[in-house]
Amino acid sequence: MGKQSTKSVKDLLFGDLWEYAPAPQGTDFVELDERYGHYIGGEFVGLDSEETFDTINPATEEKLATISVADEATVDRAVKAARKAYDNHWSKISGAERAKYLYRIARMIQEKARNLAVVETMDGGKPIKESRDVDIPLAAAHFFYYAGWADKLDYAFPGATIKPLGVAGQVIPWNFPLLMAAWKIAPALAAGNTVVIKPAETTPLTAMLLAQIIDEAGLPPGVVNIVNGAGATGAAIVNHDDIDKVAFTGSTQVGKIIQRAVAGTGKKLTLELGGKGANIVFDDAPIDQAVEGIINGIFFNQGHVCCAGSRLLVQENIADEVIAKLKQRMSTLIVGDPLDKNTDVGAINSREQLDRITELVGSGVDEGAQKFQPKCALPDTGYFFAPTIFTDVTPSHRIAQEEIFGPVLSVLTFRTPDEAVKKANNTPYGLACGIWSDKGSKLFRVAGALKAGVIWGNTYNKFDPTSPFGGYKESGFGREGGVQGLLAYLEVR
Ligand code: NAP
Ligand code: MG
Repeated sequence: MGKQSTKSVKDLLFGDLWEYAPAPQGTDFVELDERYGHYIGGEFVGLDSEETFDTINPATEEKLATISVADEATVDRAVKAARKAYDNHWSKISGAERAKYLYRIARMIQEKARNLAVVETMDGGKPIKESRDVDIPLAAAHFFYYAGWADKLDYAFPGATIKPLGVAGQVIPWNFPLLMAAWKIAPALAAGNTVVIKPAETTPLTAMLLAQIIDEAGLPPGVVNIVNGAGATGAAIVNHDDIDKVAFTGSTQVGKIIQRAVAGTGKKLTLELGGKGANIVFDDAPIDQAVEGIINGIFFNQGHVCCAGSRLLVQENIADEVIAKLKQRMSTLIVGDPLDKNTDVGAINSREQLDRITELVGSGVDEGAQKFQPKCALPDTGYFFAPTIFTDVTPSHRIAQEEIFGPVLSVLTFRTPDEAVKKANNTPYGLACGIWSDKGSKLFRVAGALKAGVIWGNTYNKFDPTSPFGGYKESGFGREGGVQGLLAYLEVR
């Protein structure tokens, strides 16, 4: 498209002639129970507990199911089941034997992919095209990948003596519910540990479907235990005396509480926390591809991504062009029903998260940044937030420092590579960055100076089970994925 054009891409392509017709994903085949408890020692239990909460569909605010809350006694039961399975069985069988189960779980996730994707979208609000094309296939890929390592651990760390840690206590967030469960469970099991895991309160359903898969796969009782509940249940897992390892993904705030709780106990710990990722765009970058990457980096999954590219650092001489193209592209995004196959930006996960985004966006306006939102009609019910871009942002603005965890991009400019690096590193976090440049040498030099665990070159938000993921500074420590991901669950001497 030439620079002389002032029409939006949508106008040029489609004019006023036609809109996208609805393409709703059917849900008739989805069968959910009215009530879910926990999966402990190979049994579905806890349907009689007094304390419960509801999980809702954030796009419709309709209740999907009632969920039991695991108290300390229930968590204790789960840890005992995990210990028994570890001592009596799982730590004793061969890696090849463990691999068989992991392969089976991976294949069953693939077989049930459609159901899992639809339930993920209903429970969490993410667009069906993401659950279908990203979350569920990657969850299966993680099980396949770590199944491959289970009988090759000696080759992963040649010359070293390796040993599983024991029982792992794992707590995960709501932004990639099944995928985060796979990230936690697959490497732990491959390395010979057993687990007790808690999904987030707003997204427990695919974890319960995973429990059914694990049960059907015939995994020995107690190897995987899944308990539901809110923060107190998570704390009961973390603080249990018989846990050998804690793996947590969630907010920096809760991560700090956990780090304090675990200090001095001898429990091994990995933390995957928040982020304030930046896309750095140099004036020699392929601009149109960069614009697509920036859009994907922040609007993918409504910005509910710890490694989201929530800041754009653009070289000053191309800033006007990039910002104009971004605004054009934003106005073509389809916001709304997550179950519509055309939807790009779905529902915000909860009322609480919507309030948090609204408050931070308000602070951006108050502090003097310029806000732009494309015209888009948001649904009347459910939790939605229009894609938002802020210009005239300074590094000290809250929207440049704090994690918004929503579809909100803050734009800053720079003149030299050194200034770009300084600004990119100028947050308490260090999780992810993207660099856009035609010059490989520049890309590698800048990558070397960035304090971020994940750095993409001329792309963004690409994930693969073979590639380690994790942060620096307040984004946490430890790596998940790749051979490094095994280290979190092994003692290597
Ligand atoms: P959160 O409040 O920290 O919750 C994460 C998990 O911890 C949930 O299962 C939560 O239970 C549980 N929890 C809450 N308080 C706890 C406590 N005192 N002890 C033990 N567990 C506790 O975070 P969130 O709001 O769900 O998730 C969003 C945050 O996660 C963002 O900041 C994001 O950056 C971060 N995140 C990081 C990564 C990464 O890989 N680095 C990935 C995804 C998300 P309930 O949900 O039931 O309250
Ligand atoms: Mg829900």
